Amino acid sequence: MKKMRRTLSLFNTLTRRVEPVLPVTEGRISLYTCGPTVYNYAHIGNLRTFLFQDLLKRTFQAAGHQVEHCMNITDVEDKIIRDSQGGLAADTSNEDRHTAMKALTERFTAIFLEDLDALGILRADHLPKATDFVPQMIRLIQDLKAKGLAYVRDGSVYYRIAGFPQYGCLAHLDREGMQVGASVDADEYERDSVTDFVLWKATKPGEPRWDSPWGPGRPGWHIECSAMGMELLGERMDIHSGGVDLIFPHHENEMAQSEGCLGHRWVNHWVHGEFLMVEGQKMAKSLGNFFTLRDLMAKGVDPITLRYAIQSNHYRKVLNFSFEGLRAAENALKRIRAFRVRMEGEGQAGGGPWKASLEPTVRLEQAREVFWAAMADDLNTPEALAAVFMLITYLNAQDDHVALTREERDAVLAFLDETDAIFAAWPHQTSGLDGKVEALIEARRAAKAARNWPEADRVRDQLKALGIVLEDRKDGTTGWRRG
Ligand code: AMP
Ligand code: ZN
Repeated sequence: MKKMRRTLSLFNTLTRRVEPVLPVTEGRISLYTCGPTVYNYAHIGNLRTFLFQDLLKRTFQAAGHQVEHCMNITDVEDKIIRDSQGGLAADTSNEDRHTAMKALTERFTAIFLEDLDALGILRADHLPKATDFVPQMIRLIQDLKAKGLAYVRDGSVYYRIAGFPQYGCLAHLDREGMQVGASVDADEYERDSVTDFVLWKATKPGEPRWDSPWGPGRPGWHIECSAMGMELLGERMDIHSGGVDLIFPHHENEMAQSEGCLGHRWVNHWVHGEFLMVEGQKMAKSLGNFFTLRDLMAKGVDPITLRYAIQSNHYRKVLNFSFEGLRAAENALKRIRAFRVRMEGEGQAGGGPWKASLEPTVRLEQAREVFWAAMADDLNTPEALAAVFMLITYLNAQDDHVALTREERDAVLAFLDETDAIFAAWPHQTSGLDGKVEALIEARRAAKAARNWPEADRVRDQLKALGIVLEDRKDGTTGWRRG
């Protein structure tokens, strides 16, 4: 059966409206997410953004779209240079400077990818490192210069924002009141200091460098994403995403660079996730108020519980991190997982008639509809999950009275699989008790096939000790239930 493809809507920072995502190529979504700056451990605030993007990607996939995902690795940038070059002698060769920078960034890239794996975040199709795309960045800067959008000063190249009339439209800057200051060399600055920004930085003593038509130097941060995005996803992409702090100046500048060069719209949907906070403040390395995933794991937190705690809240709402929130997430997951185990097992005889207002399968279809309507409406996870919990409450009560049939149970399990494809938190468990029971049932089947009756009886007793009652069926298969 061909899977139905659903249209999803997302809030677009550019238009400030929830709009349907209508891909440039039917059935295929191109997604660019700004990746980590790899000079230290990611904190769980950073990970909130990557978890929101994983939810976004998985929702499109579950809705029947193919997703081509590019996440860059920022492996040359001010902070990386600060942390990797500090201990080097003044006369260190350029080659050794690059090697030192690479040693730092490769170490933290590996750690970052381990964090993503632990959180069930799917790997991007493209994971380009900025240092592998310097020639593309140089070409893009040359192009901007040829179009009159960039100028050289003292070996650095700057973007001339006066040449791009749309500058400020993503961050909704008031162009009239804009104080256009002198050009800046820093990659990060506030929106009240709108300036010509740097594309290429002339080398300073103590920095790794590349050759360029403007002399030795290194790329600015913003040009990295424009060059990699255009190279790997083409001239028009469907979705570009990051945390809200990237709207300005990073994404504003990316847009000015790419659209200035292309002469047409580059990104259809700009999608930004809100912050993870701690006691009313943004979680940030500079504020020292952060946890890494490893800090939490050392405290016994399951990464998937963190995943759920974050994803069960709407991505455009500020979220306060708390251990209480993690406990609530753990309880919610226990409820869904216990329900799954119940549906995987066989129904009990039941406690008697139940005046159902709706058949279980009708109830299930309603839950599915509500779930998808919520997800399609700007990834409204709280509402989508509420539909799952209502279904669980209803079907648990139903199953207590009149056991759901195997067919009904399987239909419910298919819905749990469908939702787990997005949340990745309640998969079918083959380990634990279920796995052990299945393995023992298989051992008993093999013993019986070999006519080894004492062994078959021994395994049956072992299962009995686990509280499992076996039911040999007419068709030769064996079912089981907790006795
Ligand atoms: P960085 O490694 O600093 O480039 O940041 C990686 C991602 O984390 C970016 O998309 C940021 O917007 C995001 N980010 C940084 N701090 C937070 C926070 N406290 N909550 C959510 N996202 C954040
Ligand atoms: Zn970026």
